[in-house]
Amino acid sequence: MADPRTSAPAALRPLYEVSACATELYGEIADCPRCVLARTRTQTVPGSGPLPCDLVFVGEGPGQREDELGLPFVGRSGQFLDELLGAIGRSRRDVYVTNVVKCRPPANRDPEPDEIEACRDYLDRQLEMAKPKVVATLGRFSMARWFPGARISDIHGREVRIGETWIIPMYHPAAALRNGSLRDVMKADFARIPALLGTGS
Ligand code: URA
Repeated sequence: MADPRTSAPAALRPLYEVSACATELYGEIADCPRCVLARTRTQTVPGSGPLPCDLVFVGEGPGQREDELGLPFVGRSGQFLDELLGAIGRSRRDVYVTNVVKCRPPANRDPEPDEIEACRDYLDRQLEMAKPKVVATLGRFSMARWFPGARISDIHGREVRIGETWIIPMYHPAAALRNGSLRDVMKADFARIPALLGTGS
């Protein structure tokens, strides 16, 4: 297999940069045998972006393109995420992006509870390193970590302060690609982020 770090589109290559504090964790994830997803992955997808980082996005799990490239949100959902970030003056290079599971569920099925649990400590450690002001959850699987039992249609865009961090649940970008009316909903939810970061007007 060609090394994705050199064969990936040039625009994505900066996303392979790993902050020094995360090198050991990414190495552990790369060798992870903790659940069945290890058997079918092409490679692990630990996350992208700098650590620490004021703004963290947590999605569901890698899809096909992410599994090929080893980077989160590089398919169609990722393009929409980039657009949403651009609208609030941020870019993929200055936010941290990861998922509740670091390996692709086969055929893009939903991650199973035991798979999310097996990966939980990796996400905990990423969040410890990030020390974010804001965590935006993308979709129901990451939402469930902070808001178990909640419905995304009820709580999206409504931030809650937990310790030093604002947690704001959002729809998954793929949902907005399937249902165009959610595009504006997501844009409105994203527009809340600068104020939570203390950078809004
Ligand atoms: N969807 C996700 O939830 N995560 C990705 O990395 C890509 C698509």
